[in-house]
Amino acid sequence: MFLRRQYKYFNTQIIKRNINILSLEYSCDDSCVSILTEKGDILFNKKITSSHVSEAGGVIPIKAIIHHQKTLPLLVQTALKETKLTIGKEINMICATRGPGLAGSLCTGYQFSKGLAVAHPNVKFIGVHHMLGHLLISTLEFPELLEKPFLSLLVSGGHTQLVLTEDVLTHDILVDLKEKSAIGDSLDKCGRLLGFKGEMIAKEMESFIQKQNLPLNDSDYYKKLTKTDFPFKFPLNAASNNSDVAFSFSGQITQLKQYLDKQNIIIKNLSSKKKAEIAYQVQYLHFYHLIKKIKQLYTIRPELNDYPLVLSGGVAANMFLRQFFKKEINSTIYFPERKDLCTDNSVMIGWAGLLFNKKSNLLTKMDSTTQSKWPLNELISIGGYEEDSTLIKKSL
Ligand code: AMP
Ligand code: ZN
Repeated sequence: MFLRRQYKYFNTQIIKRNINILSLEYSCDDSCVSILTEKGDILFNKKITSSHVSEAGGVIPIKAIIHHQKTLPLLVQTALKETKLTIGKEINMICATRGPGLAGSLCTGYQFSKGLAVAHPNVKFIGVHHMLGHLLISTLEFPELLEKPFLSLLVSGGHTQLVLTEDVLTHDILVDLKEKSAIGDSLDKCGRLLGFKGEMIAKEMESFIQKQNLPLNDSDYYKKLTKTDFPFKFPLNAASNNSDVAFSFSGQITQLKQYLDKQNIIIKNLSSKKKAEIAYQVQYLHFYHLIKKIKQLYTIRPELNDYPLVLSGGVAANMFLRQFFKKEINSTIYFPERKDLCTDNSVMIGWAGLLFNKKSNLLTKMDSTTQSKWPLNELISIGGYEEDSTLIKKSL
């Protein structure tokens, strides 16, 4: 059923045999390896995060490189051993992140992946755009999304964008960041200021709020928390036309610092309830900014209301964010049910590589290079591709 729909969508008739994909992601500090089938069955999926990040409070590029050098080959060995599959036999496609990301991390993983491909000339090689992975991962669970254009809100550690996807190859960035700081980064910094620790501080902050069971269903309490006693200001409130609509996450951390200073708040002296309330308000400040900007865009371009809206990227794992969007936005909302498919993972790279290959009939060449900066709308024009001669194009 799914395959028939895919073929119809891509208007091609392909495939002499099933495609099984080895995919690798390493664009930042996480080493990730998966094996999946073209039907979307995940046969292997593992991620190893470098411990230096939580210790140092951020990614140190050279430590990320060393981490990938050590872990990627071991992860591939484990994947092949556990699944008992062989590259060049059952595994006939390798998908590897080509960009964007940290230059050193990308070079390390991409050269390793190309090495695997060079050693197996009958295996297809696709260098995949990391954000395309985030954009398309929901179509693994909800293939119907591929039948029509859809909007995606990409909310991650390094990106915050609203993208209109016409098809697998055509993407238009409708709302982007005004400054560099992305939502995940800002949430992590605010969380650190509130005393949270860990690999994903914003995730720890969410878990802490959930554990405190704040009476959020009490409308008076909720109104006080989010309106009357809300100590923060939403950025960029005015927007009169399309190009004025932007996201901004550069001032939230300063607002929180100023609030804590002004109130003479010492974090370790706070009650758990008060700490959870401030953390909730910080989340609210970030999430309602997204909603306000999207609503502004909908007012300027009402036709966008009709498109489904997909939440993707690490921050889309947040339950409060998901609930806010379902409550505030009238469009049909999608998000990956599996939270591990929201944060960086290699399943999304394999899946996006497969869809890219089917739609474009292209493979990535062995002399292609990584792209640490790579706008989504330059997916094909970046070059480094060749025709996939194993595909037989035929109109249905
Ligand atoms: P990514 O860049 O897509 O791998 O996502 C990583 C970012 O997502 C980091 O900033 C994390 O703190 C953030 N993140 C992960 N899980 C959650 C969560 N449950 N709530 C909010 N942010 C999260
Ligand atoms: Zn990412």
